[in-house]
Amino acid sequence: MAGFNPLAPDHLGPTACMGEILAEIVATTVGAGFAEPQPLIGPYSSGAPAIFIDQCGRMGGSAAMIGAVGDDDFGRMNTDRLARDGVDVSAIAIHSSLPTGTAFVRYQNDGCRDFVFNMWTSAAGSLSWTPAVEDVIARAGHLHVVGTSLGHDHIWQMIERAAPLIKARGGTVSLDPNQRKELMKDTDGRFAKMIAQTDLLLPSDDELFLAANGVPEMGEADAIHAIFAQGVCEIVLKRGDVGATCFQSDGTVTNAPAFIVKEVDPTGAGDCFGGAYVAARRLGISVADALTYACAAGARNVSMRGPMEGAGMRAQLNRFIADTPRGAL
Ligand code: ATP
Ligand code: MG
Repeated sequence: MAGFNPLAPDHLGPTACMGEILAEIVATTVGAGFAEPQPLIGPYSSGAPAIFIDQCGRMGGSAAMIGAVGDDDFGRMNTDRLARDGVDVSAIAIHSSLPTGTAFVRYQNDGCRDFVFNMWTSAAGSLSWTPAVEDVIARAGHLHVVGTSLGHDHIWQMIERAAPLIKARGGTVSLDPNQRKELMKDTDGRFAKMIAQTDLLLPSDDELFLAANGVPEMGEADAIHAIFAQGVCEIVLKRGDVGATCFQSDGTVTNAPAFIVKEVDPTGAGDCFGGAYVAARRLGISVADALTYACAAGARNVSMRGPMEGAGMRAQLNRFIADTPRGAL
């Protein structure tokens, strides 16, 4: 018995995700920034929405990416990778002159990251509502929104246009706030407007309180209550190397312990978690089993270098689940 499922079934149409597609180049030494020559490794396919949709496709969910890349190897690396993983790439525009977006990343000793981005000034920033986008949205069954996109005017306009179209045909919406409080500027109340349209919310840490329009002192239970009052039906709180908890609006709470792995590169954990969870739920998998797949996807991804190198096919996730010990609940 899979229980109540607020997400539209996979057969209604693909999960669509829009936003940045990047090539990521990672420093192989730990330290501060890029002011000196240093060893680097890459390029790796990246960009939070791209990581999400790749894991969704690898899980076996119907998936479509909306984005823009340059007519260069970084762009082809990404589109080839997504297509190979079963993602519909028909709404990825190829810009004739702007290059594919890039992110240079270096880890500091305390685990924080220094970035050099070329994102919205690259092909990624040229994203617009093309006939190919119209076509994907017209047949999509679900929209996944990555919170970082809300600060970009064009992408916000596209989300505002896409969400009601998908909902009107019985589709659903998920939101990963994907930002820390200190970085968050809720331009024009966009975050609140997005929550009001969200069926499934995937916060981590203090994003829970941000979504509740509150503060950490209010406590988890009150925050969950405040978010349900805004119309969200399912909240999955990601807790890093502790695991995750799903809260459903009927009061059901399901905890999932993390898998025990050696963390090599934490980038992409939340996006892989979300991609696996959304795909699994849309395929009709129960909350408990979807959480297991999602925790496995996050853990497998942090155990490999590169933002989505550890994203697992469903069979690989099954093997990982069978072979990897889990922490205590
Ligand atoms: P991101 O930094 O990518 O935005 P996030 O903050 O959204 O990530 P996390 O809670 O860090 O999300 O990670 C998502 C999930 O991945 C966790 O709930 C957990 O199941 C798994 N995970 C993340 N880090 C680890 C780890 N070090 N060991 C085991 N599992 C992990
Ligand atoms: Mg996140």
